[in-house]
Amino acid sequence: MRSQKSFREETNTGTLYIVPTPIGNLGDMTYRAVKTLHEVDKIAAEDTRNTKKLTRHFDIATPLISYHEHNEKSRGSELIREMEDGESVAIVSDAGTPGISDPGEVIVQAAVDAGVPVVVLPGANAALVALIGSGLKTDHFFYYGFLPRKKKERAIELDKWKSFPETMVFYESPHRLKQMLRHMYEVFGDRKVSLARELTKQYEEFLRGSLEEAAEWAEQTELKGEFCIVVEGGVAEAVSSWWESLTVVEHVDTYVEEGMRSKEAIKQAAVDRGVPKRDIYREYHVEE
Ligand code: SAM
Repeated sequence: MRSQKSFREETNTGTLYIVPTPIGNLGDMTYRAVKTLHEVDKIAAEDTRNTKKLTRHFDIATPLISYHEHNEKSRGSELIREMEDGESVAIVSDAGTPGISDPGEVIVQAAVDAGVPVVVLPGANAALVALIGSGLKTDHFFYYGFLPRKKKERAIELDKWKSFPETMVFYESPHRLKQMLRHMYEVFGDRKVSLARELTKQYEEFLRGSLEEAAEWAEQTELKGEFCIVVEGGVAEAVSSWWESLTVVEHVDTYVEEGMRSKEAIKQAAVDRGVPKRDIYREYHVEE
């Protein structure tokens, strides 16, 4: 095991900071996020023009460079070298927490491999706000993010998760939401869903109902803004066993007919049914 003591280690290397930014409400920028962006040597931003608006608002003069999904690897290696030489770098995405359906994961892995400390600041994240406001179970949940765009690939994913028993959180763009909800209803069946729209913004709205209602609503509405979709978990499909419709005697006899001795057959039927052997024995011999 390798230990990283985020605040108590004397190192010559810089630090990688993961800094969340608001998902629509500037008031959600934390003091610590502002302080960190002031103090680092460089801010690596998904879209520098976008982040410039934020840094201007908070009077942050730290140099900005671009860091997005298309230069994640090459720019990431450069940044790691600079951090190894002592510079500190903050990663920010357009909105919310880097690394959650946004660039971040790759550079965190590279920093961990290179022994560069990684410090993650807590902050705005659409999935968690949507989940907590959904009214669905939050004790366990699953974050999926964006489903594949192609229908066939999306079908495979939906099928994989349809019996998953815990609440699930998805992201989707407004122009694909209609197809996504209809498809989800077709595969998951009707169950509770909460659509969280424009979170933290002036037009924030929660639409809570069933998947069928949500699919219908989306088909009749001009969809605007950003959405998170929070869906109730499924019920595991009942696995029925071949012997369920048989009596105990028929069950044991099936094994006997297959060549087992009655003692073995009784033992196996007891295992199948999860009951003591003597119960099967009694029932089998009484009825014999
Ligand atoms: N990293 C971000 C986070 O921590 O939430 C998510 C980035 S992902 C590229 C963008 C998606 O997040 C949107 O398509 C939408 O599904 C969701 N999202 C972001 N902001 C939102 C908001 N204010 N309200 C609802 N959903 C939002």
